[in-house]
This record gives sequence, structure tokens and C-alpha cells, in this order.
Amino acid sequence: MDELDSNFKYEIAKRHGGEKIKNCFSCGTCTASCPVRKIDEKFNPRQIIRMAILGMKERVFKSDFVWLCTACYNCQERCPQDVLISDLMAVIKNLATEAGYIHPSYVQIANFVKASGRVYVLEDFDNKKREKAGLPFLPTKLEDVSKIFEMSGLDRYIKK
Ligand code: SF4
Ligand code: SF4
Repeated sequence: MDELDSNFKYEIAKRHGGEKIKNCFSCGTCTASCPVRKIDEKFNPRQIIRMAILGMKERVFKSDFVWLCTACYNCQERCPQDVLISDLMAVIKNLATEAGYIHPSYVQIANFVKASGRVYVLEDFDNKKREKAGLPFLPTKLEDVSKIFEMSGLDRYIKK
């Protein structure tokens, strides 16, 4: 069993968006509002918040749900205790990343952006279509983006 970290909720509460974590009285309004939950019942913001309050740091960091949260703010708008749930999920993602738990799907996207400068592939074929439509040529690679990754320190989070 993973060790509990009783300091975890305070770590979250120190960051913008996490301040009100301890207000949660586990009503479940967030869970009932969550579109990710509608796709799969195992995703549950109330449970993540409860686990964070209990100090289950490692399990929270490794939870797929935290990374699948779409930041839609449905939950945050409805929370009767003013817990900033969407912002809190971002706080958890940031803490997880700092602790080396970045989700593999995020690593993959970041590596892709680093290599091409885009979140989607742009090929010569696309430029031919653009030309036909009277649109200007776009470079298929943006070299400076990989320099930004290196200079900003983002690189160290996505290196395998
Ligand atoms: S809606 Fe607010 S108070 Fe209710 S479980 Fe979610 S975070 Fe806690
Ligand atoms: S912000 Fe995240 S946790 Fe809240 S309802 Fe949207 S997807 Fe669910």
C-alpha cells in the first residue's frame, strides 16, 4: 500500500486554485456534473478530492482522471462549497509533473509539439491544398519551438 502524505492537502492549498480543498464535504455535485464521468463511471472528481485530503498522493498523481479532466468548469460552477475544482485539477497536474508523474499521453503530445512545433501534422500535401485555396504556404516544422522547450526547462519533464 502507498504511504499517506498528510501534508499533501496543504501543498495543494498553497497554490492558486487549491486554497479551498478542505471545504469539500463530499456532496458529489461535481461528480454528477462531470462529462468525463458520463463516459466512464470510474472517473470521479469527488473521489480524487477525497483521496487528496486523505493524503493518497501517489494514487492521485497516477490517476488517469486527473489528466482526462477537460477543465470544462461544470463542477466548479456548481460546487456549494466554492471549491475551485477545475483549477484544483490543474494544481494536481502541476504538482504531479514536478514530482515526475507526467501522464504518458501528455509526454507524447509535448514531444510531438517539440519536434514539429504543432499539435497536428502539417505535410506538403496540406500546403498543396492551401495553395489551391489561395492560402499562403505554412512551414511543416517550426524549429524555434524545440529551442523554447530547452530554454524554458520544459524539456526535462518530457525526457524519457
Ligand atoms: S461539489 Fe464541491 S463540496 Fe461537493 S464533492 Fe465536489 S468539491 Fe466537494
Ligand atoms: S472540470 Fe474536470 S472534473 Fe470538473 S466537470 Fe469538467 S471534466 Fe469533470
